[in-house]
Amino acid sequence: MRWSSLLIPTLREDPAEAEAVSHRLMIRSGLVRQLAAGIYCYLPLGHRILDKINTIIREEMNRIGGQEITLPAIHPAELWQQTGRWAEIGEEMFRLKDRGRRDMCLGMTHEEIIAWLAAKEIRSYRELPQIWYQIQVKFRDEARPKSGVLRTREFLMKDSYSLDVDEEGLRQSYALHKEAYGRIFERCGLTFYVVESDPGMMGGAGSHEFMAPSPAGEDEVALCGSCGYAANIELAASRPALPTFPSWSSLEEIPTPGARTIEEVSTFLQIDPRLTLKTLMVMTGDGPLLCLLRGDQQLHERKVQHLVGPFRPAHRDEVKEFTGVEVGFLGPLNLELPLLADEALAEGVYVAGANREGTHLRGVVPGKHVRARYADIHRVQAGEACVKCGGLVTVEPVIEVGNIFQLGTRYSTALKAVYLDERGQERPIVMGSYGIGPARIAAAAIEQSHDRDGAIWPSSIAPFQIHLVTVNVKDAAMRSLGEELYRSLAAAHVEMLYDDRDERPGVKFKDADLLGIPYRVTVGSRAIKDGQVEIRNRRTKADSMVPVADTVPHIQALLSRTDGK
Ligand code: ATP
Ligand code: MG
Repeated sequence: MRWSSLLIPTLREDPAEAEAVSHRLMIRSGLVRQLAAGIYCYLPLGHRILDKINTIIREEMNRIGGQEITLPAIHPAELWQQTGRWAEIGEEMFRLKDRGRRDMCLGMTHEEIIAWLAAKEIRSYRELPQIWYQIQVKFRDEARPKSGVLRTREFLMKDSYSLDVDEEGLRQSYALHKEAYGRIFERCGLTFYVVESDPGMMGGAGSHEFMAPSPAGEDEVALCGSCGYAANIELAASRPALPTFPSWSSLEEIPTPGARTIEEVSTFLQIDPRLTLKTLMVMTGDGPLLCLLRGDQQLHERKVQHLVGPFRPAHRDEVKEFTGVEVGFLGPLNLELPLLADEALAEGVYVAGANREGTHLRGVVPGKHVRARYADIHRVQAGEACVKCGGLVTVEPVIEVGNIFQLGTRYSTALKAVYLDERGQERPIVMGSYGIGPARIAAAAIEQSHDRDGAIWPSSIAPFQIHLVTVNVKDAAMRSLGEELYRSLAAAHVEMLYDDRDERPGVKFKDADLLGIPYRVTVGSRAIKDGQVEIRNRRTKADSMVPVADTVPHIQALLSRTDGK
């Protein structure tokens, strides 16, 4: 296709509002434009990239027996009320009323609709298993739409759903999806981890996320280099390394005037912060609760929430009201409040608050002095030990590109999606649900593959394979050679963008680097003088000169060798 007839509005400057690399480059290379916060238009090149990704997704979904369908984007409230999610989900759901004042919502996912459809259409075990999928728009009124297309309020999702007769069937459908997802991300040229994840609002037994490592990611994963343990930080576990414990044999009050924070206390006493114990008061549905953690550890909100339900940190005056103690000197001894301690504290001897202003207590052995419920409530930090093998754990920022869930029967029970088994007994269909964000794949690909000059697209999802440039279209000989090459490459079905614009060479080359199409073929003065065109590999920036007459077979050979990266 000719650049001169396409809409490719490239920009020289970085857009002011964009921080993530992918955001900057997608705007600068004219792939997308923002209509409103988290709402984007895809221009021709952006559309081509999504289309490539969707094709790969379709091929892999079809390969595991998926059947493509299209479900409505607007849903009646009743279905969401029947599963309880109408009330459970808050402001993230776009809600509206139709002219008859009936409640409706814009679909943020489609479990309810699938269960409704299965309830209508599936009768017998003979019709199972089924895998249904769609590539369709979703709406979520995200609290912080940012980073370009990584988190938007309207976005494309490939969502699929498996319907099985039992848990064993679900495990098989889940395994099929896990493999298909691996192939999809591999074919899209992404580096990724498969990690254990928290099912969250979906509910259900187990789930995995597919995570593309990138500094732009909003999620974090904990990884063990030794045994391959990999989990979202939202549920990851670790064993913090133990410090050498001193031989503090009895409880001793020590003055610590003005030292409130862990840093202040450990500096003042000249001890390892890992020998301190911090006491944090939170307010739960049942009232105040004291959470105990080693000084160097952070409270993991989700883990605590799983144990005690919703909670919030206590205010300064609430701490004073329930304990009579100033924040900074709170400790676990002699208070009539329930205690939840991190399991790392089960061993060792610590310095803790003494529940008296300006004073700490040395020699606290939680295992002996504190009656607490012990559980894992700390956030994994790099350098801790793996719970599976003792290996070293690292923590990395990642972009979630896909998520798979074993749902079980929550939705089928609520919406009466049942089948008759071999003995004629009615049983709920066992469901799985599987999502992928094509736009996130595109953005993650840029995050993982770019340089100072622009994107470097994996060839499998690049908008074009070849970027043909005629350096000076005002030069009649050069122009006609460019046109001739364009025709012969097109005749050989090479997917190509032809920069036939009347622009300065510098502009054309900068644009070519910015777009990041895998190979640039340049028709310049050497083509006229020596009959040679220059072929540049966008990734390595290596140039080679090829005789004009050999260009087509040379390019065909290059493209057939490309392995997706
Ligand atoms: P996140 O935790 O990032 O909000 P999620 O867990 O809510 O995502 P899922 O419901 O699992 O997302 O959706 C499946 C896939 O859809 C995600 O893995 C991601 O690729 C994509 N996706 C989800 N939310 C968005 C969004 N706001 N913008 C773009 N893509 C999204
Ligand atoms: Mg998710």
